[in-house]
Amino acid sequence: MKRDKSLDAVKHAESLMPGGVNSPVRAFKSVGLSPIVVKRAKDDKIYDIDGNEYIDYVMSYGPMLLGHADERVVKSVWSAASEGFSFGATTEAEIELAGLINKHFPSIESVRLVSSGTEAVMSALRLARGFTGRSKIIKFEGCYHGHSDSMLVKAGSGALTTSVPSSAGITESLSKDTLVAVYNDISSVKELFSANKKETAAVIIEPVAANMGVVLPKEGFLNELINLAHDNGSLVIFDEVITGFRLSNGGAQGLFGLKPDITCLGKIIGGGLPIGAFGGRKDIMEFLSPLGPVYQAGTLSGNPVCVSAGIATLKAIESDDAVSKADSSANYLIDGLKNELKNFSDKITVNSISSILTIFFKGGGVLNFNDVMKSDTNRFKDFFASALNGGLFIAPSQYEAMFVSSKHTKSDLDKTVAIISEAIKKYFSNYKNL
Ligand SMILES: *Cc1c(COP(=O)(O)O)cnc(C)c1O
Repeated sequence: MKRDKSLDAVKHAESLMPGGVNSPVRAFKSVGLSPIVVKRAKDDKIYDIDGNEYIDYVMSYGPMLLGHADERVVKSVWSAASEGFSFGATTEAEIELAGLINKHFPSIESVRLVSSGTEAVMSALRLARGFTGRSKIIKFEGCYHGHSDSMLVKAGSGALTTSVPSSAGITESLSKDTLVAVYNDISSVKELFSANKKETAAVIIEPVAANMGVVLPKEGFLNELINLAHDNGSLVIFDEVITGFRLSNGGAQGLFGLKPDITCLGKIIGGGLPIGAFGGRKDIMEFLSPLGPVYQAGTLSGNPVCVSAGIATLKAIESDDAVSKADSSANYLIDGLKNELKNFSDKITVNSISSILTIFFKGGGVLNFNDVMKSDTNRFKDFFASALNGGLFIAPSQYEAMFVSSKHTKSDLDKTVAIISEAIKKYFSNYKNL
């Protein structure tokens, strides 16, 4: 596969932008390759500027449940754009999107739109702090909640109650208010609550973790977490930026029958255009300005073009049963992979739910961040290169999910099973003597 044009463009980009990218994972650093530069995408396919075609499982890291350039979404964006881009005043479209979110997420009685998942989480945390009058937040190691300062913190090894930042530029005073628990380990949360009595404003969690690869919550874990937080006077924030409108029309909370106090959304609700939202109990949301003392604002919040993409996407999800379509395509893919790779269960673990999955290069199951870190990233690198050269665009990191859309075709899924299983079999037979 020739990628000369991509190579040249990347060089040019590197002279102008840090790492040549506007978001780090795009640089392919962890797999040691030069990234592809994308020209366009349609349905389940993406094309680079050299004209190579890939079956896409990155799907913009989640928003494209309907695949790329869905006609209905394109039409809606086109028509919204022709009526003006941004007004600094309320539109009917915003009200319609809020209604659609509320309809599918009964826990979201009131919602505010923002421009990214990061902004949704950052604002939700401020609101939780303002509402409870407390300063600390509990998060889980390996869960990603965007790049706001207080969320870029993870536990130092072995020291659950002391937190070290995972980025430079995060002050000590910020990181000390972020407590880090172990995913799927309720006792780690109990310890934090008892060491920080009446100080914890909220617990934030990805109800299904999808940013350390896909890691599922153990039966009963989320329920226990909600009860524990409420017993301690603390709010529960579900970060459903990936899982919202993907795990079910009502997200992970709809699938599991749970009710957080605040929910963060993003990705799918913008259909690929920049958006985020946070919402929840009315009494909490009324703490936001202009009604309450917690300030939050945005020049482009509820932007009509982004909102039109979101409305068209959510309506298409409703009328198309797109969530079930993507689910059954993902199941078909996973069944195919499990069948081809059944002799490798001591070397790989496939975690999946609904239409997201991760192939971990570690046998014996993956339940938390510690397990994730035992994956063999060298094997992943090799696998990634074979998959890319075979015509699959998969995220260039062991710690991401593969996203299946409602537009992935059976023949593309068959092709994917063949490329992935060949790559894995080749690797393990070449290196069986190591
Ligand atoms: C992507 C993501 C975010 C951040 O959203 P951005 O739009 O990239 O700022 C937050 N939380 C989760 C769970 C995400 O997957």
